[in-house]
Amino acid sequence: MRRRERKRLARSLALLAACICLPIWIVKGCIIATQNGDSSNEEESSSGGVFSPGPTVEVNDGGEGFSLPLEEYLVGVVAAEMPASYHAEALKAQAVAARTYTCRKLQNGGCKHGGDICTDSGCCQAYTPPEELSETKRAAIEAAVYGTAGEVAVYGGEPIEAVFHSTAGGYTEDSENAFVTALPYLRSVKSDETDAPRYASAQTMTNSEFCARVQSAFGVRLSDPARETAVLSRYASGRVESLRLGGTTVTGKEFRSAFSLDSTNFSFEFGNGAVTISTKGFGHGVGLSQTGAQMMAEEGSDYREILSYYYTGISLEKYW
Ligand SMILES: [Zn+2]
Repeated sequence: MRRRERKRLARSLALLAACICLPIWIVKGCIIATQNGDSSNEEESSSGGVFSPGPTVEVNDGGEGFSLPLEEYLVGVVAAEMPASYHAEALKAQAVAARTYTCRKLQNGGCKHGGDICTDSGCCQAYTPPEELSETKRAAIEAAVYGTAGEVAVYGGEPIEAVFHSTAGGYTEDSENAFVTALPYLRSVKSDETDAPRYASAQTMTNSEFCARVQSAFGVRLSDPARETAVLSRYASGRVESLRLGGTTVTGKEFRSAFSLDSTNFSFEFGNGAVTISTKGFGHGVGLSQTGAQMMAEEGSDYREILSYYYTGISLEKYW
């Protein structure tokens, strides 16, 4: 009986020590990271460079997974999702979007594959271990993450579904046209990133190549692509809603996937036995455009203006 009590006491003391020491160690770690990467950030120096590292996140990376404070996790996410060479304000917008996305996951029970969030960009958010980054890149990203620490984009009192994409190519898209749900803060806005590398692209193939791909993807046999292919409807953003291939109607999304196009904003040109498919933008087009964020930052907007532009009607709240 006494031995058991002693054991219990020892366990309690160990737990108490962990509760006191761990937060000190984590906060200390963040201060060091801040000093390394954020010499130009006035906001942070004015607040003394001390901030909460946020809740612990269980990251599912397909293997055993790992857990770490949310702010530290975000450094790896921003590293994987946006070039570190982007403008500081664009990186901050990306950091807030990634933080918001993570908070929503935490609130909604985590990733369907286990853990709070996974490293599959097709499911949750990509992740590059910060130790794999050069010192310069890591410093730029840490400045963006720790310079916005705790800030979350909120609508109706909840973290928003902070989706983002590479390049809108003219206009972003209403959420219901790309996904299922109409969300009031995911509305189409103008985003003409004409200097972005994937603003526009085109691929040309012979008529027979085009017919073969249509047949393998949709089981439709075409003999004259120019006569048998037609865009039936477009959304206001310019993206294709549906098109006709012979006697079959397919969605713009299905066609994009079958032809590995950059976006669903595509058009056709026929001639000389060939088909040219031109696309505008890169990605699903909903929410924050990353190259749009870069463009706005270069034109003088800060991350708050960028986020408010791409996420209609949101406000930024400090969660920790
Ligand atoms: Zn996931």
